[in-house]
Amino acid sequence: MTYFEELAARLDRFEHVSDDVLLDIVTGEGSCAWLYANELEPEWTNNDLTDRKLAAQICAGCTARWACLELELRTHGGQSLGVWGALPAEDTRALYPVWLARRQGGARP
Ligand code: SF4
Repeated sequence: MTYFEELAARLDRFEHVSDDVLLDIVTGEGSCAWLYANELEPEWTNNDLTDRKLAAQICAGCTARWACLELELRTHGGQSLGVWGALPAEDTRALYPVWLARRQGGARP
C-alpha cells in the first residue's frame, strides 16, 4: 500500500459523516481554532516555506487532524491550498484522486 493509499484508508471512518459534523469537529477541536479563539495566533512571516512549517507544527498535534483532512478533500480536493490536516497542499492534491477512487469503490481491498 502506498503512502497516499494508507492516508485514504485512514479516512474511511469519515465516509458517512456529514460535512456539518466534520465542520463541528474542526471548529470545536481544531488546534488552530483554539489558538485563534484565545488570541494566540502564530506570527505568520509571509514566507511560504516558513509559514507552512509553522502550520504543519500546529496541525501535527491536532486531534481534529483527520476530520480536517477529510473536509478539505471534500471541499477543495484537487485545488487545495495551504496546510490542512498536517498535509502540505501538494500532498493533499496528490491524495485527492486516490481518496476519490477509494470512495467510488475502485480501490478498496
Ligand atoms: S489539522 Fe491543522 S488546520 Fe486542521 S483543524 Fe487542526 S490545526 Fe486546524
